[in-house]
Amino acid sequence: MAQWFAISARRHSRRAPLRLRACVGFAAIAVLVATAAHTAFAAKLSVVTTIAPLAMIVQDLGGDHVTASSLVSGASSVHTYEPSPSDLVRIAGADLLVSIGGELDGWLDKLLVGKKPGAIVVRLLEDGVTPTASHDPHVWLDPLWVRDRALASLVRALSAIDPPTEPQYAASARRISDGLTDLDEDIRAILVGTAGRGFLAFHPAWSWFAARFDLHPVGAVEESGGTEPSAGALAALLDAAREAKIRAILVEPQMDPRLARTVASEIGADVVLVDPLGDLASSDRGRYRDLMLFNAYAFARALIAGAPPAE
Ligand SMILES: [Zn+2]
Repeated sequence: MAQWFAISARRHSRRAPLRLRACVGFAAIAVLVATAAHTAFAAKLSVVTTIAPLAMIVQDLGGDHVTASSLVSGASSVHTYEPSPSDLVRIAGADLLVSIGGELDGWLDKLLVGKKPGAIVVRLLEDGVTPTASHDPHVWLDPLWVRDRALASLVRALSAIDPPTEPQYAASARRISDGLTDLDEDIRAILVGTAGRGFLAFHPAWSWFAARFDLHPVGAVEESGGTEPSAGALAALLDAAREAKIRAILVEPQMDPRLARTVASEIGADVVLVDPLGDLASSDRGRYRDLMLFNAYAFARALIAGAPPAE
């Protein structure tokens, strides 16, 4: 290609003015740069998810073929998310965008005007998956929901964008599926003796986790993520917590813990950190399995006197 441009520029050189020759030369450089950029970056699919646990799962699924990142990360909450300019740039560069869908991260829809033509959008709760018996959108806190519902949607989407790699995505999904079965059993082992016990969360994020592991949500300090309770709601919550003999209130890194600490001291309870979202940069909560084990140990500490600390 470069050679052709060089020859063609030479042929024109006798008659063509200098400006045209410079122009053709520039075009040759532009083509070379574009080709180099294509080979350097086309190898990996860019996947942008709304929340970190989805990026953890997609990265595990895609391995070397994928670079997954999350819009909500670190200490920010999915319920009060505001996009940054760099988030919009990432959305514009994504081959695949993954959300839970619905009230949790429906804000993604408004940001999709800037997406790349041909980019695929997966809203897991709408992709043939209907939550049953619960309006709680924190479905990913049930590892068997990830295994039985989310994995197939993600494999389908990755394979649609990158058909030659489908066998590898499918093989990864089988490995991850087995890992999630093990994770479910490991969490059960950590939570032995907690069946039917009540817990008080900071915001109502744990009904899928509770249903899977036979725990009982007594209530939440915030009735929905990001909204402070009324005085009446708080008084009712304190009564319910005393009644249920709550030993510890679960707080979260994405939420201001002051209100939870006040509630805890009112009822003589401890506070224990749980993390529904995790953080890709974290050493102990940066992978889905680690995140869920962290939470299992936290629940055990909150529910069982003398439970061992996290390993
Ligand atoms: Zn939440």
